[in-house]
Amino acid sequence: MPTPPNLLFIMSDDHASHAISAYGSAINQTPQIDRIASGGARFDNCFCTNSICAPSRATILTGLYSHNNGVKTLHDHLDGRQQTYPQLLRAAGYQTAIVGKWHLGHGGVNDPTGFDYWCILPGHGVYDDPNMFEQGVDTHFTGHVSDVITERSLTWLRARDKSRPFALMVHHKAPHRPWIPAERHQHLYDDCDVPTPPTFDDDYSFRSEAAKRAKMRIDRDLNFTDLKADPPPGLSPGEEKHWKYQRYIKDYLRCVAGIEDSVGALLDELDAEGIAADTIVIYTSDQGFFLGDHGWYDKRFMYEESLRMPFVMRYPREIPAGSVVTPIVLNNDFMATFLDYAGLTAPEPTQGRSFRAVARGETPDGWRDALYYRYWMHLADHNVAAHYGVRTERYKLIYYYGRALGTTGSIEEPTPPEWELFDLRNDPMELHSVHDDPAYAPVVKELTERLVELKAAAGDEE
Ligand code: CA
Repeated sequence: MPTPPNLLFIMSDDHASHAISAYGSAINQTPQIDRIASGGARFDNCFCTNSICAPSRATILTGLYSHNNGVKTLHDHLDGRQQTYPQLLRAAGYQTAIVGKWHLGHGGVNDPTGFDYWCILPGHGVYDDPNMFEQGVDTHFTGHVSDVITERSLTWLRARDKSRPFALMVHHKAPHRPWIPAERHQHLYDDCDVPTPPTFDDDYSFRSEAAKRAKMRIDRDLNFTDLKADPPPGLSPGEEKHWKYQRYIKDYLRCVAGIEDSVGALLDELDAEGIAADTIVIYTSDQGFFLGDHGWYDKRFMYEESLRMPFVMRYPREIPAGSVVTPIVLNNDFMATFLDYAGLTAPEPTQGRSFRAVARGETPDGWRDALYYRYWMHLADHNVAAHYGVRTERYKLIYYYGRALGTTGSIEEPTPPEWELFDLRNDPMELHSVHDDPAYAPVVKELTERLVELKAAAGDEE
């Protein structure tokens, strides 16, 4: 029986696909991440099921939607007695490790399970000289967090038992808020103006009150910690918004540059060891992010920039180099997929489906043509109303149901329920909801029924 492939799973935090050059970024170049895409596949329709840090991570580990793994919000911790893919890979003979962001609690049943080695940041961790829990022991490290995570990962990789396959999760904190880059990157982009996105001056007309209510606006909601300086006096409102955007996006991209160095070092290590052909390499992020799109930073909404995950994957023995994969895959599919490559079938209650064949360029019979999404944290933090919805290839229907529904961190204050429908073919930037347009009444009816079906099929009864 052939040895199953190694798995190098690199995930960053809040890195949107439109800040990756393999996805056509207009604002930066990412040659190291692009190495993975050009040597394998770029997934153009990979989506998260709940666009926020901890819930996405819990879904990836368990293959379950948030309501089924208990991590619906940032404040929920993962009960490690649940089945996760590292446990199953380890039981099948893999050496397993996680280095970096965990964000699912720690201590007791919240410690990572299924890992031979773990070294995790507490919560979000810090950018400079982080403390990390190394096998449960609070340990101080010196340097920028992205470099520390890389160094710990390489050290573990070099010291492993080379007669057995490995599964290494390198989970970066960057480029999460407050966007503090390594010293060597602090002057990148000093001599240029980063272009603004087409929807930078969105005024939220023709959309929900939920969009208007959100507090994640570049011009209004970024604070001194984010910007690291006060705006110069005498700027017009438009000039000040532009100044804030430059401060924000440049630090974000400088943090991405740190991730680039990490990806490059890890890929070089595989090459140096001669194991690149036998190693599945993935680069993704726990969700997308608004990079000035709609005048925003942050995520949470089911809108495209936040819903979409970058996902590039290289496995030369099976995935044609330079391919583009378009079927819809979800973060709750990762577990079944990783297990499939290891020769294992994802056991119950895993909800996702292996996309191994999809990665080869096939579309299996009955592959999904729609996804179910839910964001639970009603009016928490950035004042985004809780919502659920369905996205197909062409349409997106969103229902802001307007209530907290018992989640920790939500605000009890109800908001009037409202709907949005976007025709992504005619309105890819989602600027004009057509929910109340009579011409779309048949689409509304069909998608509303579809949403009810998908919600029930996902086992979401709240
Ligand atoms: Ca995140």
